[in-house]
This record gives sequence, structure tokens and C-alpha cells, in this order.
Amino acid sequence: MIHYSEKLSWTEFHELANEGAIGVIAVGAHEEHGPHCSLLTDTIISNALAERIADRISGILLPKISYGESWSVNDFPGTITLEPETLTALVLDIARSVKKGGLRALIIVNGHYGNMSPITLAARRMRSEENYPVLILNFPELETIAKSICESSPAGGMFYHADEFETSIVLAEYPEGVKMEKAQPDYPEFPPAYGETQVLISSFNPVGVFGDPTKASAEKGERFLAAFTESCMKIVNDFQKTL
Ligand SMILES: [Zn+2]
Repeated sequence: MIHYSEKLSWTEFHELANEGAIGVIAVGAHEEHGPHCSLLTDTIISNALAERIADRISGILLPKISYGESWSVNDFPGTITLEPETLTALVLDIARSVKKGGLRALIIVNGHYGNMSPITLAARRMRSEENYPVLILNFPELETIAKSICESSPAGGMFYHADEFETSIVLAEYPEGVKMEKAQPDYPEFPPAYGETQVLISSFNPVGVFGDPTKASAEKGERFLAAFTESCMKIVNDFQKTL
């Protein structure tokens, strides 16, 4: 059962906290996902997964964070990026508040690579300064799951962006967010120094697709969500034992 915080009064929140509830929040992005997929793709995906996890643990689902750290695609129109410090501060503020509100822990479902460092920094500070547990889920077992469901292979060996995986989940969760007639495969050549130097995606991929979204389907999206729910729950179950 999901407890959506938007439906709770403070007294109900308080009761759930007294019963040991855990907070769950999705962190996504508002950034280019090719000509066919919603700017909010990562937010839609992470929130879909956060809902499933909250359901499993009867957690309190907090309103999603729809913006992330999107420096690498910041020159695409429509991308709205947070400074990493902003995201760290935002997550810290939320975590401190849920701690104050009595929730046992916070689980962050992250849907975007660029968010990992800023969120991790916030979680570390919560641990060292507040002794508060924050779990971050970054699509555990992504490569194995993608291999078992996708017909296409990822760009650059392990780069999933506006591809079969992401497009499928948006088709399943929010079909209005995909225009399949505009989907096209793209397997750009990565610059040798990608990852070592600060390279904007647009310099080697002006379209913004990595992989083959034409193979996407809502049915695959459902399978992805089911598989990620299981891979996440292994970690969540373990995490709960430590609380
Ligand atoms: Zn994405």
C-alpha cells in the first residue's frame, strides 16, 4: 500500500511515522531525451519505480524531484539543470525534514546518472552529521536486466539514454510522453576522452538518442519495471534489516 504524502494530513503522517514508516522519493531530470521522448523521461521512470517500492514497504511516497543535474546536455533547448550544490542542498533539506518528522529512513530512487554524485554527497552528510540512513537506488542490475529484455544493444556498451529501455518504460507509464514516429536509432562514436574531460553530449551526438528506441514497447516497459522492483527490493530488504 502506498501512502501518498499529498493525501496525508500531518497527524496521519505522524501516525505512520510512529508505526515505523519509511519515506520514498524519486529524483529524475528535466532534460533532452531525443526527438521522440519526454523531457521528463527520467522523472517518469524513477517515480514509477518509487511507487512500486513504496507499495511493497507501505512507505510514504513524497512528491518527486523533477529536476536533476544535467550539465552534459544543458545546451539542448528544454533541458533545465540544477547546479550539483543545489541538488545536494535540496536532498539534504528533504532528508533532514523527514528525519525530524519521524520517518525511520529515506529511500531515494534515482533515475539519472548525473544525480548520483550530488545525491550521494547528501546521503553521506546525513550519515555523518545526523546519523540518519538514506538508501539510494540507481537501477540495480541494469545491464543484466536490459540484456534480458532489450532486442537492441546499448550505445557505447553501457549508455542507456532515450533508448529501448527508457522509451519502453515511458510507453508503459505515460504513453503521451512518447512519439514513436519520431524515434530513430543512434549509435554515436564516443570521443576517446569522454568521461575524463568535460564533454558536452551535443558535440558528438546532436540528436540526443543513445541506442535504438524503435524497438521499445509498453509491454517491455512493464517487464522492466517488474524486474527493477525485484532488484531494488533485494537491496531494500537488506537495508531494512539495518534500521
Ligand atoms: Zn534518461
